[in-house]
Amino acid sequence: MAKIKVLSEELASKIAAGEVVQRPESVVKELLENSIDAGSKSIYVEVKDAGKSFIRITDDGSGMTEEDALVAFERHATSKIETYEDLENVGTLGFRGEALYSIAAVSQIELKTRVAGEDAAVYLRIDGGRREEVSRVAHGVGTTVIVKNLFYNTPARRNFMKANPTEFRHIYQTVSRYALAFPEIEFTLQSGDEIVLRAKADTIRGRLDEIFGERFTDSLVAFEEDYDHLKVSGFLGKPEYTKRTRGEQFLFLNRRYVLNKAVNHAAFSAYENLIDRGDFPFFAIFIELPPNEVDVNVHPSKMEVKFKDERSIYGAIRSATRSALVRSDLVPEMGMAPDSGRFVSRTTTESSRGGIVPVMFNSRAPQTGASGRYIEEERIADAVDPLFSLRLPQPRPASTDSEESDNGVFDTDAGIIYQLHNKYIISQISTGLLVIDQHAAHERVIYERTLKRFNEQGQNTQQLLFPISMNLDPADFSVVEETLPDLNLMGFSIKMFSGSTAVLDGVPVDLKPGRESTIITEIIEDFKRDNDLRLTPREKLCKTYACKAAVKAGDYLTVEEMESLIDQLFQAEVPYVCPHGRPVLVKIPLLELDKKFGRI
Ligand code: ADP
Ligand code: MG
Repeated sequence: MAKIKVLSEELASKIAAGEVVQRPESVVKELLENSIDAGSKSIYVEVKDAGKSFIRITDDGSGMTEEDALVAFERHATSKIETYEDLENVGTLGFRGEALYSIAAVSQIELKTRVAGEDAAVYLRIDGGRREEVSRVAHGVGTTVIVKNLFYNTPARRNFMKANPTEFRHIYQTVSRYALAFPEIEFTLQSGDEIVLRAKADTIRGRLDEIFGERFTDSLVAFEEDYDHLKVSGFLGKPEYTKRTRGEQFLFLNRRYVLNKAVNHAAFSAYENLIDRGDFPFFAIFIELPPNEVDVNVHPSKMEVKFKDERSIYGAIRSATRSALVRSDLVPEMGMAPDSGRFVSRTTTESSRGGIVPVMFNSRAPQTGASGRYIEEERIADAVDPLFSLRLPQPRPASTDSEESDNGVFDTDAGIIYQLHNKYIISQISTGLLVIDQHAAHERVIYERTLKRFNEQGQNTQQLLFPISMNLDPADFSVVEETLPDLNLMGFSIKMFSGSTAVLDGVPVDLKPGRESTIITEIIEDFKRDNDLRLTPREKLCKTYACKAAVKAGDYLTVEEMESLIDQLFQAEVPYVCPHGRPVLVKIPLLELDKKFGRI
């Protein structure tokens, strides 16, 4: 007797449906996509019981003719692609022609749909994949799909559904994702009797306000960069808000919500040490790319995408997000009035939401394509940083009448510098007082300088007169072996001898004398301990090296040393935080002092 049997049509359809429809949210997602693909301007989603017993989606899109409506429920029935070439260039959210078929197989479905020019709408009722009724009803141009009793004929699936709050949360997330991706479409989500989301047609910014509240979105940093055939834009949460707000991440590729580890990593790494471990920044990133550069055809329900040239995407995202963060004013302020007193740059002419930004920032497109390389870090030292006003005293401009002018005037006597308790550097700035943590500042300077060394093939080593021999256990030995090429680039010269001995005979030129004997062991220890996944091994090495090589709290600094440190700090890419994420500088606005002393 033959063992192999062809499955019945009914069973096969249920199995196929399982791929597409996993929970009520899958139904909402598929129907939303259809409504969006149909060119709708307004979409109304209503669910009961978190979608388990009832889902209704009404749109004002193109609608379907009777002929199309009848075919739409067949497997692989789609109006969106015809040929393999079309598949390479899909511009719609759907294209598999499986959604209506699959949903119909595991629920009781009703469809009302009318195209412009017809008097009445087509009405269709399908039960567990079987057509039960075809007739005519009244309905506006557009489509309504009602899905009742999901999984009524597949008990195993039905029992897999989670409690209502969980299932509804998924639905809500999905609707809000599409609402973010398509701000020009009006979305309403009703659950039971309650309108949970109503988003009128708007800009993306307005949409964000609608979904997250204005207070939250006011704290976002916007960015937009155009590269050859790649456009990235979006909004980033400021690091200081990561604790207090939900750290959701939204990634849209050609307006489709997707997941991609590389892009997430790129965005996270842009925050570098700006946020604590375990905190998640909010971001909404929109990528636009020719469809043939991506493969969305991975799995019907999976949202992961594959990029053909992932490295350039990574580089582009990292550089765009990084420069956005760097451009935004990240200097923490001491005091209670967050909006009083701001740095004023002598060249800044343009102010924007949330403060004054340098205007000369100039972003370059990453190198993509043939070379397969991308520029990892944008050099932005030439950006005009408001903090430059601290140093480089300039002649006072002609009009000196206003005492507290905030418009490009800065102090002539900015050269005043003072070391407090061998720990902090105090300096006057146009809007008040600046306090710098000397260790953190130096750490930042060395960190960035060391990172840069990896890209320059310079001579950074200073030979030791008396080489230092180190006895290492096997684990430490392998760490040194593994990191040796990077250590060499940093300026360390180390000879490895079989098994357990390493000899250090050269150190980076900027290492303070006296630290030679311990620095390697300290680097090894930190390297083993630090499992911050956001950092690359190189960044980890640089971080430890910077910490160990920097001046400490308690070190006395001459005025020249302080001046030089401040100069270097303000040429750093991110002068505001040390590699561990602690602030490097804090400003105390004059206004704050005036308030304290009852002057205002
Ligand atoms: P796909 O979206 O992958 O093409 P579906 O099974 O989701 O497959 O839908 C099948 C077809 O039915 C679509 O290609 C489209 O032509 C039509 N259709 C589905 N929903 C709508 C709608 N809301 N408005 C207009 N046409 C629709
Ligand atoms: Mg579809």
